[in-house]
Amino acid sequence: MARVFVITGPSGVGKGTLIKHLLERVPELELSVSATTRGPRPGEEHGVHYHFLDPAEFDRRVANGAFVEHAEYSGRHYGTLREELDRRTAAGHPVVLEIEVQGARQVRTAMPEAVQIFIVPPSTDTLRQRLVGRGTDDEQQVASRLEVAVSELAAQDEFAYKVVNAELDAAVDELVDIVRREMVLA
Ligand code: 5GP
Repeated sequence: MARVFVITGPSGVGKGTLIKHLLERVPELELSVSATTRGPRPGEEHGVHYHFLDPAEFDRRVANGAFVEHAEYSGRHYGTLREELDRRTAAGHPVVLEIEVQGARQVRTAMPEAVQIFIVPPSTDTLRQRLVGRGTDDEQQVASRLEVAVSELAAQDEFAYKVVNAELDAAVDELVDIVRREMVLA
């Protein structure tokens, strides 16, 4: 069975950037494309960054058991489609899930063999700066994401691995080491 890696941590911690570099360094890894009810940001494409679903379609898929995990985050729904995961692992590809903490907990219960990695920000202030700086969320969304971030940070000790994203290259190296080590153990 191919390895499943869960990468979690608060919004704004840099999960997306770290994963982009991780995928370049470990080309056999594949990223599962999540479903969400939030709208696309500029530059985001349906089926590439997310499967953008309306709330009724999301609910229908929940009822059909289409999700491995799903959670509400800042008023929107997000979830990992079983099909996304199964197709990749069946083809022998190790898979990365980039998800928030409630989803990571559900995966821990459903798939205890998945490798769970929590990305830690150097400080809460850095998070705020990144959330404001990327300019993708309005003031209310930033406030809501920061509030969730504080409770997510409190959960970091639940995770087998923690990587502090203070310096990008060092954090990527650490992530690559974890993934390579766990792939050998699979
Ligand atoms: P964003 O709106 O910034 O793309 O994502 C908001 C949060 O939802 C991030 O913490 C992101 O990791 C998380 N997220 C993205 N996809 C999924 C998913 O499939 N399941 C869960 N539980 N969280 C997700």
